[in-house]
Amino acid sequence: MRFYNQRLAGPALRGLESDRLSLRVIGWLHTVHKETISVPAAVSTEEFGIWPAPPHPVVYFMPASAQQGLLYQPLFFHEFGHLLYACHEPEMDSLVQDLQVQIAELLEPLARRNDAHAQAEERQCTIIVLTWYKWAQELFCDAVGLTNRWLCFHPRLQPLFAHEPTYRVSLFSG
Ligand SMILES: [Zn+2]
Repeated sequence: MRFYNQRLAGPALRGLESDRLSLRVIGWLHTVHKETISVPAAVSTEEFGIWPAPPHPVVYFMPASAQQGLLYQPLFFHEFGHLLYACHEPEMDSLVQDLQVQIAELLEPLARRNDAHAQAEERQCTIIVLTWYKWAQELFCDAVGLTNRWLCFHPRLQPLFAHEPTYRVSLFSG
């Protein structure tokens, strides 16, 4: 209950008119994958990000000024990648760990001394390998975002903006 109160109650209950466009885009995104179709979502106005904790409701973040137009809406596609990662975390982590092993092997020196310099080099390699855990997730989410981004212009999305004349004009004219 504390988790719901601290993280979810505010975004889920705020019901602002300005969230409508973002919620439509996010709602549509959740329908494109069987793992996310039943995961409820809310939106909040902080720096870009997401709290993915399926099957709990998911909170997407976008600054209030960015929510006012279509320019930043595709960033939700990247954030949706984090939700997909969370839905498949064991398999994804296993793939990333395979990558980390390969990177560690590439960084392994041909010969290792037993001195302070070698220890510092080893710590540096460990940091690089650990950093790739985060980078691999971000690259995966970028790939998800790029794969889905063209759908922004797909005719099936037009109904989402049917009642948003401002957005419809900027998206579908020209
Ligand atoms: Zn990200």
